[in-house]
Formats: sequence, C-alpha cells, structure tokens
Amino acid sequence: MSQGTVYLIGAGPGDPGLVTVRARELIELADVIVYDYLANPILLEWTKPGSEKIYVGKRSGMHSIPQDDIQEILVDRANKGLQVVRLKGGDPFVFGRGGEEIRELQIDKIPFEIVPGVTAALAAAAYVGIPLSHREFSSSITFLTGHENPEKHTLSIDFKQYGSSQGTLCLYMSLGQLPRIIEELKAGGMSGEMPVGIIQWATLSRQKSVYATVDTILDQVEKSGIGTPAMILIGEVVAHRSKTEWFEGRPLFGKRIVVTRAREQAGQLSQILTDQGAEVIELPFITVEQNYDEKLVSEVFAGIAVYEWIIFTSANGVKNFFDLFYKAYDDIRCLGPMRIAAVGAATAREIEKHKLKVDLIPKQANADALADELIKNEGVESVQMLVITGNQNRESLVERLESDEGRAIVDTLPLYKTSKADLSNHPAAERFRQEGADAVLFTSSSTVKSFVDQHAALTLEEGARKPAFGSIGPLTTKTLKELKLPVAFEATQASLEHFLVETISSLSAQ
Ligand code: SAH
Repeated sequence: MSQGTVYLIGAGPGDPGLVTVRARELIELADVIVYDYLANPILLEWTKPGSEKIYVGKRSGMHSIPQDDIQEILVDRANKGLQVVRLKGGDPFVFGRGGEEIRELQIDKIPFEIVPGVTAALAAAAYVGIPLSHREFSSSITFLTGHENPEKHTLSIDFKQYGSSQGTLCLYMSLGQLPRIIEELKAGGMSGEMPVGIIQWATLSRQKSVYATVDTILDQVEKSGIGTPAMILIGEVVAHRSKTEWFEGRPLFGKRIVVTRAREQAGQLSQILTDQGAEVIELPFITVEQNYDEKLVSEVFAGIAVYEWIIFTSANGVKNFFDLFYKAYDDIRCLGPMRIAAVGAATAREIEKHKLKVDLIPKQANADALADELIKNEGVESVQMLVITGNQNRESLVERLESDEGRAIVDTLPLYKTSKADLSNHPAAERFRQEGADAVLFTSSSTVKSFVDQHAALTLEEGARKPAFGSIGPLTTKTLKELKLPVAFEATQASLEHFLVETISSLSAQ
C-alpha cells in the first residue's frame, strides 16, 4: 500500500484570506483533515467531496482530544496511504505543539511537510494598525505564553525579566493570568504607564479590541467584557497605532448578514458585504447536481454540428455543458459554426470564459424575452436548435420555439438537477439558528419563498439576534408582504450596489 504524507499546516488567525496558497492547495487535495478549535471551519469548504473531517479541538464542556489520540489518528490515516492535513490555528510552530507532532511522525517514519501560517501576534497587530517594531520606539519583538506550569502552579515564564524590555511583548494565552503577569512585569521594572492593547478574535468580524496602560488594563478588561482568544500587546508601539481603523472601522463591521445563495449571482453579494466588514452567512436553499442521460448526451454530441443555435438558460447549464464537452472533445472547433444565445448576463459571462462570443442576450433576463427575440428578430422556422437546461423552467421556451409562432426544430439537453437543500444539518443554518443575524437580504421573490419554505430548519433559538428583512426591489417586497414577513428596507434601485447602500444605512441606524 502506498504511504500517505502528513501536512502540518498553519491555518492563520481566522480570516480565510490569510491562508497561504500552498495551504489552500493541500486542503483541496487532502483525503483527511484534522482540525483545531482555532482553525476557521470555512476552510473546510475547500475540501474535495468525500474527504474525512476530524475535529480535535475543545468542545463546549469537554476537554480537547488528548495529544496521543491526535497522533494516533495522523499515523493511522497516513499508513493507510491517505494524504492527511493537520490544520492548526496561526503558525504550527508558534505555541502550537507542532514540534511534538513532528517528533512522533519521525518516530513512526511518516513523511511530513510543514506549511507556516500567519501567527496571531502579527495578525492582531496588523488588523488594529499597531506596528510591532518601530525605529523610534521598539526594535525587538518577543512572543510569550502566559500558560501556567501545571506542576508548580506558577507561570511557565519568569515575566520579571521582561519588565525592563524596551521592545514589544506579544502575549499568547495570557488573559486568564493577566493580573499575575502584570504584577511580575512591574516587579521587573515596567512602568505603570506602559501602553497595552488586547485584541480578541483578531481578523474576524467579531474582532474586539481595548487599549489602556499596565495600571488600568485590568479595569478595562472587566468593563469591556473582552474574552478569549486574545492577543495582548505591550509596548510603546501600542500608543502609536494608526488613527484610522481600517478593519474595525468599516461600515458593516460587527454585523452578521444572511444571504441566500442564488443560482446566478452566488458569491457576488457576499463578497461586497464582506468587503464592507460584515460576517456573511450564506444559506444554500437549493442544491445543483450534474444529472444527465448518457445516451442522449452522446447522440447530441455526435450530431453537434447540425445545430444553428445553442441556447443556454443558466450559468449552471453552461458549466455542465462544457464539463461534458471537454471530456468528449479536445478542440473547441468541434462545436461547429453555431450561434450562441444566453438568457442573461450571468449566463453570458460563463460562456465568455471559454472565449466564445455570445450572439444574443435578451434585454430582459427571462425565457420569454429570449423566445421573443429569437422568433421575432432571428426567424427560427425549420432551424435546428439545441437548448441546454436543468430539470426546471425549460418548458415555456421550448414550447414557444416549437409552436406555430416559431416552428423551430428543438432538441433539449437537460444536464443538471436542482433540488431543495436539506438545511437541518447544514453548518450555516445551524449558526443562524443559534446566533441569529442583523439582517437577511432577499434578492428575488424565489429566495423569499425558499426562506419561508425552509422555516423549520431556520427557527431561531432563544437569545439569537432577530434579523431585519431587506428587499432588493418592489417585486421581492411584494412577495415578502404576501408571506407576512415585515420589510425593514428596500433598495432604491434593484441593483446589488443600491442594495448595499440601503443595508449600510439601515443597519448603522440600529
Ligand atoms: N499557533 C497559534 C497560537 C496557538 S496558542 C498562532 O501561531 O497564532 C492560542 C493563542 O493564540 C490564544 O490563546 C490567543 O492568545 C492566540 N490567538 C490565536 N488566534 C487568535 C485570534 N484570532 N485573535 C487573538 N488571539 C489569537
């Protein structure tokens, strides 16, 4: 049997954008992912289907899995020939027990690779604008842990010797021991005026930070309720942090917003909300799977050159069509000289990725408008046409093209199946149930209907934040009202940009 490798990977401080390119590549290829409490679970969405995901971090009310057991999992899976990713928060070699894990791997002769990550101190400093070194105030940076020595019930480090430090101290795992640490730093000569900053959940939309001095920080911790995981930065540089809060100052910072993952514009709305600082929960109301009749596909492909038009009714249709087409042919010219129509701009964009020009996009993005333009402007009588679809919404287009109005010769090729997603165990839905949100944004009537339809899986638990409902335009608002959902705001024009503006002004007024 072949031997698997263990990849010890730094997952960074939380923001998935701070993972290295190498880490992402390996996560995408892994057969098994063993991950910690501090590694952002969003990274698991990059894994291939069927990969095994093993959580070894703390569970509420329970201890984390003992190191020996983690070791056993790594060795066992690697010996089965699997590629194992061991994902650790921050950097694996900074207070991450990475050293112990590779020692064991060496003993068991398991090949391994190490991918560094952005450690919490660097990330926290950057996301609050504190320069860790500065030519005038600090020319050393020290990483310290506030962990207790379990045998002696003392701190495992003698903090007194850092009391006279002229540089920046970065304290990991120290919030619980802060009173003792401060006492020792002062005993070692540190001034009570020395600036201190504490950053909790650095780089995530729940980041929180407080600033004080060595003498006043304990009060501040109490007043602000700041908790773990937290990075404590001590040094003159803390007072010289940037006045602009580039991260916490963004307009939607701290807001949790639910968007429904609509078929055509998946990701676009999420991206603009995230850029403004929001934490986005994407609820996939439908799932799309490739689904086709092999015989039909072979027949259509064999005669592909006879069609004068190929018509795509969705971006998914385009993706699935080319996926199959490239398996059958290795030359794009096999498509022949056919003309290409797309139902709307998102579908057209997907086609253009293949360096193919789209000959027709109707002014309104719907099947009827497409049929109108083909019949009236192009003339389709006796023209052979191929319509690429899913299992829904194809009837009216094909019927009209074939009817007396059009008299075209139409072949339909369904390539995928859309079905209702099961949200009862979906992590995004679970987060929504537990924590709620500040807003739910609806981008179409069908997203409203699906939301109501999924009611059972989306019922908020006690204490969850109650969201405001936002609508992209009058049609969506009408559906919300019909279904008795209160509309908190509506975009002044039906575009994502206007929707964003309205969301910001509505949520910042709260
Ligand atoms: N290997 C990790 C550190 C693990 S020790 C790294 O390189 O970052 C765990 C400690 O790291 C926490 O107690 C906290 O002090 C710090 N930490 C990790 N992620 C953090 C985050 N997002 N914000 C603030 N502190 C964080």
